Amino acid sequence: MTNFKGLINRILPSSSLHGAGERCVIFLQGCNFNCLYCNSSEMISRCVGCGRCIDSCMTGALTIGDSGVEFNSQLCNDCDQCLNVCDKNSFPKALSLTVAEVMAKIMPNRDLITGISVSGGECSLQIEFMTELFAAVKKEGLSTCIETNGSRSYSDFPEFMALCDAVILDVKAFALDEHLKLTGQSNQKVLENLTFLVTKNKLYEVCSVIVPELLENEATVNQVSQIIARLNPQIRYKLIKFCAHGVRQNLLSAVAPSDEYMEKLAAIANQNGLQNVILA
Ligand code: SF4
Ligand code: SF4
Repeated sequence: MTNFKGLINRILPSSSLHGAGERCVIFLQGCNFNCLYCNSSEMISRCVGCGRCIDSCMTGALTIGDSGVEFNSQLCNDCDQCLNVCDKNSFPKALSLTVAEVMAKIMPNRDLITGISVSGGECSLQIEFMTELFAAVKKEGLSTCIETNGSRSYSDFPEFMALCDAVILDVKAFALDEHLKLTGQSNQKVLENLTFLVTKNKLYEVCSVIVPELLENEATVNQVSQIIARLNPQIRYKLIKFCAHGVRQNLLSAVAPSDEYMEKLAAIANQNGLQNVILA
């Protein structure tokens, strides 16, 4: 192992919500999208070292280092005062950890989990770190999964793909202009990844968040389900109800879809031939 470090927002020792079975989930800091409906915007940016959060910490857990704020978890009492102060979509308590340090946090639960999932933020922005981490995880007999916005071409990372068992891919909008409006970025690579990952037998699940009025939900579900059905109709398509909790109100004020609307969307996907549509 090298001393290459990943920037980590937090580690969840065990969860059944991020891939198959019970999994340790590692959330990486930093994302290249800025989704209007993001409810974890503190994961979007890397710290710019403005120092604004330092004075909010009464225990001395935060200091400024060469590459931004440095967090000493042993001095932190989890009051979370600092999280309210950062106005740069960053996270004062992010940790720079080597693969060996991450493995030391995973292994105490080794017998309780089937694998790990790496989420974010956007995990593919730290592909070198993930490649090294997945190699170490595989040596322990654990499975590997990622949750990704699909903005980088996975066909460019064959070494990583050989170590990655499963991918959960967000398709946030099918129409380019809608995706640009929602995320600030193109969806061209997202849609290329959708096909690529199926052909490599790596696609575990596709997710779309349903936001009435903001998005053309029916068009996205129709187009995406047609593509998946053509490639492999057994792949899971999860339709997720928008939830306003944690969303930046200055960017988006929207309501959750009704159960009836979600059922209507599921029916569209089923009519297109999908056999595994999930409402969440
Ligand atoms: S959560 Fe921890 S680092 Fe943040 S202000 Fe409180 S004690 Fe300091
Ligand atoms: S975490 Fe936010 S407030 Fe603190 S130094 Fe970094 S950018 Fe500034």
